Amino acid sequence: MTVAWKSLGPGLLDLIFPPLCLSCREPVGSEGGFCGDCWGQFTFLDGPACICCGTPFPVDPGPGSLCAACFAKPPAFAQARAILAYDDLSRRAILALKHADRLELVPGFSRWLGRVARPLLEGCDLIVPVPLHRSRLWVRRYNQSAELARRGAVLSDCQHQFAVS
Ligand SMILES: [Zn+2]
Repeated sequence: MTVAWKSLGPGLLDLIFPPLCLSCREPVGSEGGFCGDCWGQFTFLDGPACICCGTPFPVDPGPGSLCAACFAKPPAFAQARAILAYDDLSRRAILALKHADRLELVPGFSRWLGRVARPLLEGCDLIVPVPLHRSRLWVRRYNQSAELARRGAVLSDCQHQFAVS
């Protein structure tokens, strides 16, 4: 009986509470996604990019290329990547994750981050989230960075995760 109810549950819940676009709240096919209109407006940063800072190149200069800024003054970090260009749409999604309890964004962001950062994550031993000050953690009740790191560790081959908050 329980198994039968569970198999009906998600379909029944989708009927009562249909999945909505995480940005514009229009109905979508599955939970945790974006509608076609919003999806098409995101600028994903998954093309050729600086090997160090991840700044996109308009033309692929070949593997291992540095941007002018990193070439002139190497940053203190070895490599960094971003999922999306920061614009109105991505800003709304990021702020919703950070400040509006929209944790349903975590699986999507983690998948995209895993896709962009896969070469950086291969063979890593540890994923460390950016810590959140305890007063902010108390107000917000979660660290969005830790949520992304936790999910990212599950999705990557990394077997260990260190969560500081
Ligand atoms: Zn660079």
